[in-house]
Amino acid sequence: MSGPSARTDRVDAERVARVCEALTSVLEQGQLRRDADTLAAYGRDESDSGVFPPDVVVFPETTAQVSAVFKACVAHGVPFTPCGARSGKSGGSLPLNGGVAVSLERMNRIHSISVEDLTAVVGPGVVTGDLMKAVEAQGLFYPPDPNSWEFCTLGGNVAENAGGPRALKYGVTRDYVIGLEWVLPDGEVLRVGRRTIKGVAGYDLVGLFVGSEGTLGVATEITLQLIPLPRKVLTALVVFPSVLDAARGVSAVLAAGILPRCLELIDDVALRAVDGRGFQFPAGAGSVVIAEVDGHGEEGLLEELSRLGDICAQQGATQTLVARDEGQREKLWAVRRAISPALRALKPHKISEDIVVPRSKIPEIIQRLKMMGAELGLTVATYGHAGDGNLHANILYEGPHQRGLVDEALRRMLVMTVELGGTITGEHGVGLAKREFLALEQGPALLDLQRRLKSFFDPSGLLNPQKIFPALKRST
Ligand SMILES: Cc1cc2nc3c(=O)[nH]c(=O)nc-3n(C[C@H](O)[C@H](O)[C@H](O)COP(=O)(O)OP(=O)(O)OC[C@H]3O[C@@H](n4cnc5c(N)ncnc54)[C@H](O)[C@@H]3O)c2cc1C
Repeated sequence: MSGPSARTDRVDAERVARVCEALTSVLEQGQLRRDADTLAAYGRDESDSGVFPPDVVVFPETTAQVSAVFKACVAHGVPFTPCGARSGKSGGSLPLNGGVAVSLERMNRIHSISVEDLTAVVGPGVVTGDLMKAVEAQGLFYPPDPNSWEFCTLGGNVAENAGGPRALKYGVTRDYVIGLEWVLPDGEVLRVGRRTIKGVAGYDLVGLFVGSEGTLGVATEITLQLIPLPRKVLTALVVFPSVLDAARGVSAVLAAGILPRCLELIDDVALRAVDGRGFQFPAGAGSVVIAEVDGHGEEGLLEELSRLGDICAQQGATQTLVARDEGQREKLWAVRRAISPALRALKPHKISEDIVVPRSKIPEIIQRLKMMGAELGLTVATYGHAGDGNLHANILYEGPHQRGLVDEALRRMLVMTVELGGTITGEHGVGLAKREFLALEQGPALLDLQRRLKSFFDPSGLLNPQKIFPALKRST
């Protein structure tokens, strides 16, 4: 098995010319771009999986335009690939065979927020952080918080079933999507799901479409459920001498029946990368955990943090420092968000995996990853949402000459994750980056069933080709 690979048979120029002509009759001026800068920008995402420029990028603004674009692509046999903010980390928005990149970014209106029904209806191009702020202004809470919330879109979150630090207590995107307006690859527009909190009529197509990674159609409108905004949030930094102590601390807290809304672990390598960048960690810190609790009364929350601190102390924690105000809280979270770019400054290249293991296995996987790094001579940095077992394990390396070693490290990491009862991706999706590894955790019958589902929804095979499933061997 190897890292990302894709056949790059590009659609021929004649078909592209024909589809462009058809698209100009369904889109306004400025909604179709073919300049070199735009094509280059829409040919990459945050996955380091390579550059695959489309032949044309379109920016539909209505559901009818999305439907018309899809119909034109199918009629002319041209592949089409949806995208939001292109912050994806698995290559899901890369137009592998060229063709049309369909950007949903201009469908960025928050249509409604209902305080009585606790729901919001949004366009897919709404930036996640914009919705969070808009609902918070009305005393409501949209908990899913991918660390890219400042720029990723809700359509991309739906496609990847994104989650973040708060998933520990509140769950992920799927837990909040109750209804979708959905355009199938042949252009047909469906309404699936509901606007009520309960509802079980028919198959759960919302459940299928959320997490379908832009391969079964696109969301053109999303109905989300909200919850009341917790009145008080407290955040603490728990300092440990080593990452193993920190991992044991996380397991012990959860086993003691405490459910913080976040428990984020930062190992020694990641900690060194961000130390001093707007935040100074206490001397002697070998690893830290950011713990956050929320509720309605400060006293109860302080008590919970104090219990959490005691449990961590039994696992070797030297200090539990509670942020005094909003400014200090934000500094802690800014440090957490800065890890990914800061690691890039340590070594020129990195591969970031989002493995998940049962929570009881967190200390073991961290130990095994460190041993593997030492054995292969590669730096491994581990951080992330340890509270729900979801770790960002990063392999840092110097350059292409180490690529063989990196591929071996990646393979070993995913094999050990599955051996420990885990899964190869907790947030970022399979996309292109991990499709050759899906067979590690899913058997042939399950892969085959999913391929048949894809063919059922997309008989032309033109929507976002070559994603999720391992490449089929070509007969010679
Ligand atoms: C610094 C950083 C931190 C991150 N942290 C997290 C994190 O904590 N948790 C997490 O889950 N992810 C995280 N991510 C990954 C990424 O931000 C998420 O996967 C996000 O959901 C992608 O949204 P997007 O708008 O950028 O989508 P894109 O990257 O543009 O697309 C992602 C996929 O969605 C499909 N798609 C886009 N719009 C639609 C639509 N309307 N309908 C159907 N399919 C669509 C695309 O075809 C593609 O397959 C992080 C990324 C970065 C760069």
